[in-house]
Amino acid sequence: MADIIQLLPDHVANQIAAGEVVQRPASVVKELLENAIDAGAEDIKLVVKDAGKTLIQIIDNGKGMSVTDARLCFERHATSKIKSAEDLFNLHTKGFRGEALASIAAIAHVELKTKTEDSTIGTHITIEGSTVTSQEAAVVPTGTTISVKNLFYNIPARRNFLKSNPVETRHIIDEFHRVALAHPQVAFTMIHNGSDVFNLPSSNSRQRIVNVFGGKTNEKLVPVTEETEIVKVEGFVLKPEYAKKSRGEQFFFVNDRFIKSAYLNHAVSAAFEGLVKDGTHPGYFLFLNVDPHSIDINIHPTKTEIKFDDEHSIYAMLRATIKHSLGQFSIAPVIDFNKDMGFETPYEYSKKSPVAPTIEVDSDFNPFQNSPSAKHGGASYKKEKTPAWESLYVGLKEDPIGANNFKDEATSSFIFESEEVTGSLFASDDTKDEGQLTFQIQNKYIVSSIRSGMLVIHQNLAHQRVLYEELLKNMTLQEAVSQQLLFPLQFQFSKPKVALLQTIKEQLEFTGFNFSEIKGEKVEITGIPANVLESSIEGILEQVLSDIENEVPDAGFSQNDLLAKSLAKSLAVKSGTSMSRQEQEHLINQLFACKEPSVSPSNKPVLLTLEAADFDKKFM
Ligand code: ADP
Ligand code: MG
Repeated sequence: MADIIQLLPDHVANQIAAGEVVQRPASVVKELLENAIDAGAEDIKLVVKDAGKTLIQIIDNGKGMSVTDARLCFERHATSKIKSAEDLFNLHTKGFRGEALASIAAIAHVELKTKTEDSTIGTHITIEGSTVTSQEAAVVPTGTTISVKNLFYNIPARRNFLKSNPVETRHIIDEFHRVALAHPQVAFTMIHNGSDVFNLPSSNSRQRIVNVFGGKTNEKLVPVTEETEIVKVEGFVLKPEYAKKSRGEQFFFVNDRFIKSAYLNHAVSAAFEGLVKDGTHPGYFLFLNVDPHSIDINIHPTKTEIKFDDEHSIYAMLRATIKHSLGQFSIAPVIDFNKDMGFETPYEYSKKSPVAPTIEVDSDFNPFQNSPSAKHGGASYKKEKTPAWESLYVGLKEDPIGANNFKDEATSSFIFESEEVTGSLFASDDTKDEGQLTFQIQNKYIVSSIRSGMLVIHQNLAHQRVLYEELLKNMTLQEAVSQQLLFPLQFQFSKPKVALLQTIKEQLEFTGFNFSEIKGEKVEITGIPANVLESSIEGILEQVLSDIENEVPDAGFSQNDLLAKSLAKSLAVKSGTSMSRQEQEHLINQLFACKEPSVSPSNKPVLLTLEAADFDKKFM
């Protein structure tokens, strides 16, 4: 049989390759915007006509191309961005395949004008279906302008498959957003059919998001920031109440590249669990920075999917960090938009000068007393500033902003029965003024009457939730009250434990611990959190260390989160502890001042409700 295999001519090969890279006008927009970014442009203009079907033009003020490069850039596998296969794992550019321009030139009429800084005359090239139709010198500004006209003019099937103009425009805007959000310092303009669609000045990330999605977005943003050895995360999530049925505002960027990842999206959803209604999706703008060696971008033709070496740690870290932020920043005031903001957190660490903790201990202090600041403020705590540890017990009324923000539907709709109490079976003297609202069963549960029936609260889990949120806040605010000890406490721990303790020393100090020595096998403590018994300190540290040891998967987890969980577990009022009525009520108030009152830090239910209607059925 005669030989039948032959090599395809370049223009055919290019057309086939174009099928992968260029699916629609938006694909061209993406590739050209990325080239402009890679060229170091500070100002990029996108001009579109008829949803890109007639014209897509990108004007940049980047570094431009020499005459030879201008000709070569349309060849397949022509790239200035990588030289060897190893470079694929050390990418600092958007492009690297050298395929985009070749593909685009195979299926459209393309015009290129470009000039470098150091030449006075630029180049003007036109190319149609992979064939150069003209090349001449031209007087043009430094930078590059590429115009892509009549996309798919030579592939009618593809052209006919394009969707309506509104749909294709939507796709273009999506791509434009992705690039614009990833590069806030670059100015972008988009003009469609002669009118300005977007005009985005150079700015920071927060302002860019607001400029793209509108002024109202600012108050919806909750900052997220965390850095571990494998990944640095910055950005924002949208407050839970803005979760949407559609998956609109969900953006992951890895090393400034927009990517899609169902797995990481799941991590975010997991962090929002219990805070958003079923069937709605939280919004987010998350910027991950990783070592380029730890990812593979070359697994998908449009480079929107990537492979991480250590996906599991990133997952765990993302989830914990976002949970933390939701706990912390929900009550933060909206930042003044005219100030410089970037990713700064509402708590301005930088402006805070270190304050020596006041050494004032109230030995009579009862953590479950109502309004401790009122009763004890004058005696031992400064009144104007609620000490952090004590503020664990500050009542609902004193937390006017945060109380309701994050409660899910179920819990925020509880109405406590507080009227028309006509005397009760168990009324006792100390409650006769207000009527009995709560009582304790088996020294384990607190039961309260609510309008629809009955509320049962697990006292230990409820207190864990209260302490956990407070501890996280202390760690972020970095101001806790410490009781200074007359005689330092000394403990022996194993060397690895002491080394571990060293790594969490700082965070522990934000909760009120003071260490005078952590070395070898010895730990010496001169200050402990207010309201914690000296005798329980060793047990607490043991517990914290073993929790950290057992739960941290490598470096991927937020230590603050773990630490807060662990301390909350150690410090919470135990099952089996009898609580006075005020203590019970106070705990309930505290609980409902929490962001997430219905689950414990370890995700167990904290409360349940029994409906009166269900009781009725039992009595028939
Ligand atoms: P890649 O981006 O993968 O390298 P492209 O086909 O998109 O491949 O571009 C080929 C080359 O053309 C690039 O490597 C770059 O050197 C050059 N180039 C493309 N667009 C521009 C631009 N806007 N400014 C300067 N150089 C450009
Ligand atoms: Mg490119």
